[in-house]
Amino acid sequence: MMHDIAVLGGGPAGMAAATEAARRGARVVLLEESAAPGGQVYRAPPTGFVVPADADSRVGDALRAALRQSGAEIRPGCRVWGVGGGPLVPQGMAAAPFRLDALAPDGQSFAVEARALVLCTGTHERIIAFPGWTLPGVLGLAAATILLKAHGVLPGRRVVVAGAGPLLYAVAAKLLKAGAEVAAVVDLAHSREWVRALPALAARPDLLARGVAWRAKLLARGIRVMAGAQVSAAAGGEVLERARVGDTWIDCDALCVGHGLVPATEATRAFRAAHRYAAAEGGWVPVLDADQRCSVPFLYAAGDGAGVRGAAAAPASGRLAALAALHDLGMLPDHAAARAAPARDLARAARAGGAMARMMALRPELVQAIPPETVVCRCEGVTRAEIDAACADGAGDMNQMKQFTRCGMGPCQGRLCGETAAELVAMHCGGRERAGFATGRLPLRPVAMDALLGDFDYADIPVPNAAPI
Ligand SMILES: Cc1cc2nc3c(=O)[nH]c(=O)nc-3n(C[C@H](O)[C@H](O)[C@H](O)COP(=O)(O)OP(=O)(O)OC[C@H]3O[C@@H](n4cnc5c(N)ncnc54)[C@H](O)[C@@H]3O)c2cc1C
Repeated sequence: MMHDIAVLGGGPAGMAAATEAARRGARVVLLEESAAPGGQVYRAPPTGFVVPADADSRVGDALRAALRQSGAEIRPGCRVWGVGGGPLVPQGMAAAPFRLDALAPDGQSFAVEARALVLCTGTHERIIAFPGWTLPGVLGLAAATILLKAHGVLPGRRVVVAGAGPLLYAVAAKLLKAGAEVAAVVDLAHSREWVRALPALAARPDLLARGVAWRAKLLARGIRVMAGAQVSAAAGGEVLERARVGDTWIDCDALCVGHGLVPATEATRAFRAAHRYAAAEGGWVPVLDADQRCSVPFLYAAGDGAGVRGAAAAPASGRLAALAALHDLGMLPDHAAARAAPARDLARAARAGGAMARMMALRPELVQAIPPETVVCRCEGVTRAEIDAACADGAGDMNQMKQFTRCGMGPCQGRLCGETAAELVAMHCGGRERAGFATGRLPLRPVAMDALLGDFDYADIPVPNAAPI
């Protein structure tokens, strides 16, 4: 069946986009790789898990309920590995609708087609490499929220929480609540940066109050908060045993560290949409108009994947994208009236979200401090020294550096190392715009060959005739 609109990603942006479009009569399909829609912030616990309700779970449940009632076709547990159609049609062939190839929960690949595509793919966590960052026991700050929310599992008993932005305090407070010992909170931001963000945060008193409550909890429990500080090394035998901050080693069995969030632009890059570099929004983001339209006709991006603005802003941008798609498909006559409320909501939420995103922007001094022998690309085992050497040998942008070193060619496809590598290349070639980004390639996610091929017999493979001599 041809859908009017396909939505890739079931976080707050994708849920709101699909709900808005389906409520207004469009045939909508939403694909999400997790077992249920919710995204990172409103991740649903696995079936059978009873997790006490909190503010996030209530918002997530409301978004999920609205999505269910909207009539949109919801396809959870479906990992999209391929995007096609739209502009990706071979020259000379008729224009095609958009096509998404996905793996179903049973491991079979299937495709959906739609006349318009809304990308709501969220973010990846940024972790700038440091000595010892690949030791078991070191994990992402945001990744720790998945362990806590989706599995009810503590990352460790005695945990150092380090990095930037509101997730730092959210994770520390959640760890305390779940019974872990928080050995220290190591905040890259100085206290004055938080003070500077206060006026913007005042636009969302609810979020501000939540942040204050997290800080108060840490204070009440006497947790050490080290402002303007960073973890410079992690060490241990087989697993993490301690983390270094300045001249101090702190004993711990888990280090949750995150240096911000990076928009997930694999799909917009694969479509060759125009992008711009916006450090304060997390990095490379698709170029959008005020209604979330990409440079490619009938392609839209919303939520943090279009520039980090936080969970509160995501649904409004998803709704704007859906309304623009409906309008462009000729299915929404009074677009101006319909967009007014979400546009207002987005502007309000983006003020506070933008201040937090700026705090999570990449800090180049972390990259400058990486020792040469430190592994940057853990999939391919590429060190900083090898990236520097490739640049010295003439690699002038991310694609060339990737070809010289294999950095970013492993299963994570640069999601983990890309930011560090790009900043290193930028230091040699004169900035992130010049360093560019690795060309978007399929598959978007690792996919097993047998899922793509299905059953086949070697005898069926056509053997070409011998070439004439
Ligand atoms: C690991 C992680 C944890 C976070 N935890 C929190 C938190 O606890 N609190 C908080 O306030 N903010 C958290 N954030 C930030 C938060 O994600 C965003 O502010 C907010 O969720 C943005 O909503 P979104 O809809 O844009 O993206 P997301 O909520 O990230 O949703 C994107 C969705 O797209 C899906 N997706 C992406 N690519 C594919 C694909 N190829 N196939 C199928 N599905 C795909 C993902 O599974 C995901 O569900 C976290 C971010 C990360 C990366």
